[in-house]
Amino acid sequence: MQISQLPPAQQQRLLKLGISSAFDLILHLPLRYEDETHLYSIADAPLGSPVLVEGEVLSCEVNYKPRKQLNARVKDASGSLVVRLMNFYPSQAQQLAVGKRVRLYGDIKHGYFGTEMVHPKIRVGGEVSLQEALSPIYPTTAGMSQAQIATFIGKALRSTPMPDTLPESILAPLNLPDFASSVQLLHAPTPDIPTVLLTARTHPAWQRLKFDELLAQQLSLRLARAVRREKTAPKIKPDGRLAAQLIANLPFGLTGAQKRVLLEITKDLAQKHPMQRLLQGDVGAGKTIVAAVAACHAIEAGFQVTMLAPTEILAEQHYQKLSSWLAPLGVNVVWLTGSLKTKAKREAIAAAADGSAQLLVGTHAIFQASVELKNLGLAIVDEQHRFGVAQRLALREKGQSPHQLMMSATPIPRTLAMSFYADLDVSVIDELPPGRTPIVTKLISDARRDEVIERIAAKVLEGRQVYWVCPLIEESETLQLQTAVDTHAQLSEELEGIAVGLLHGRMKPEEKAATMAAFQRNEIQVLIATTVIEVGVDVPNASLMMIEHAERMGLSQLHQLRGRVGRGAHASLCILLYTTPLGETAKARLKVIYENTDGFEIARQDLHIRGPGDLAGVKQSGVPMLRFADIENDADLLEFARETAEAILQKQPQLAQAHLDRWLPGRESLLKV
Ligand code: ADP
Ligand code: MG
Repeated sequence: MQISQLPPAQQQRLLKLGISSAFDLILHLPLRYEDETHLYSIADAPLGSPVLVEGEVLSCEVNYKPRKQLNARVKDASGSLVVRLMNFYPSQAQQLAVGKRVRLYGDIKHGYFGTEMVHPKIRVGGEVSLQEALSPIYPTTAGMSQAQIATFIGKALRSTPMPDTLPESILAPLNLPDFASSVQLLHAPTPDIPTVLLTARTHPAWQRLKFDELLAQQLSLRLARAVRREKTAPKIKPDGRLAAQLIANLPFGLTGAQKRVLLEITKDLAQKHPMQRLLQGDVGAGKTIVAAVAACHAIEAGFQVTMLAPTEILAEQHYQKLSSWLAPLGVNVVWLTGSLKTKAKREAIAAAADGSAQLLVGTHAIFQASVELKNLGLAIVDEQHRFGVAQRLALREKGQSPHQLMMSATPIPRTLAMSFYADLDVSVIDELPPGRTPIVTKLISDARRDEVIERIAAKVLEGRQVYWVCPLIEESETLQLQTAVDTHAQLSEELEGIAVGLLHGRMKPEEKAATMAAFQRNEIQVLIATTVIEVGVDVPNASLMMIEHAERMGLSQLHQLRGRVGRGAHASLCILLYTTPLGETAKARLKVIYENTDGFEIARQDLHIRGPGDLAGVKQSGVPMLRFADIENDADLLEFARETAEAILQKQPQLAQAHLDRWLPGRESLLKV
């Protein structure tokens, strides 16, 4: 079966289905099955699921009222039924000509017009033998019929050798069948197999395919890690004097969790292989200071450090904070973003190149080709899920393999960390700084908006500050902007004597920075903002977060937004305004955010509601998506795959290549990331 020899139009259609090789055809598994292995009599056929019956056509007529339809009566020894076709081809009318024997496959219903089948599949009856296996129904695309794709798959199954990539010694203890028979079975299961095992994908044949897929993912990630370990990075082993000074100057002590992750990071930095560590911690857990301490180690050892943030606002805030911590210690902290004026940018770039910029903070402008770093030792990326593999690559292409610290406040559930992020080492800050009062969350219908505005005024009287987040309008950025501007005008009027500010993505970076700074200084008490404030913004005096149209936002986004308050010692409140009526998913999501404050639990439930494909960062991670396995439901298989991958790479590395060639052909580039 050579796909390249098919007519181009067919090739195109197959490509749409993700099929470009015989092996892809083999792995194009049925969505479901039809059972045409058993013939029922019309009177005894079970209701509620499709059945196959056979009989003779007694009558066939086309009626025009209430609208055009074909009605034919078909009878067997036990009884009769009516076949109803609302749209039909002349060929179908001919199939149902009086006196013909036909086989009908479909649901039998006892309707208003008696026993009937609406739009059954119609075949010639008589002496034709029954199917021996369940008939697969494949995912397909316009222009490619079931029969056609089934033919291609059948050919591929017959002509492609399918030696097993895994030996009995691995399969037997896990009770997994061999590859070839698993695939054959899934394309043509015999009628004795309970269909529920097939549809729920719990049959051993399914388990085998899911296991293979998970194993390929584990192997590729482990190999990526091994490739990384071949590279050399500078060993960073300072005395730690600079870091000690920084910590001594802080108005607070580090939490136990912060100290523990710092030990993990310091150990990595002293290795001659590049660190690739993901620092996880819920919003407000205190990741920035951890990054600053790590930066001190690299700087003391004579290396440069970059700190990258996904937005200008966040980068600016990091710059402010890091300079306030490090400049007094004599560290040269330099600011570099795309919006800098030409001269300032030129100076920053020069400082990066001659090594005088010890800590370079900015947005991804840092990664532009024109920026060279003299001796980069540590690259820190905040909110790493916002960055794709492309940016990770750009860093590598600068000819250096620095240590990398990636920080994320979107907690990654364990199963996800084990699969999509398996090439990273993970440190978790699982403790919030002391003295925080928990955030109270309220769900309020936007019909009670007036009441909410009174609450804002009261908060401001107490001396606190307030965020008001305008709704996300996915279809139109302009509309979103307009809403923010309108809300600003309206609230400015309603909240007399209170300074109301406005922050949105279309403002000039200087304007954004100025507004943010005024909010920091409490010159603005109520900040109307679009979701630009979602990540990282830190103003401890703000203790009320209002989110409008909360039902439109994703769970991790809501969690991030809510995390903007509860950063100081004041009791904080997050009000989620929603508009009725709420859809089922929206209800489920709001319930999760209302009931949970733990980011890990929220992420786990998010994964459950949406599946991993949508979860922040997974698509950009460059790790191949899973087609068959579901990391939540197949957590045990994932665990087996992980153990097996480890054992294979240790004891039988030759098996890994064959398995990867089969499951991830042409993905070698991943191994280099
Ligand atoms: P995130 O993990 O969300 O990036 P930040 O680093 O912005 O959190 O820290 C949130 C706030 O907590 C900041 O104001 C920070 O200075 C403060 N903070 C960090 N660590 C501690 C600590 N150990 N004790 C008290 N406050 C801390
Ligand atoms: Mg942060």
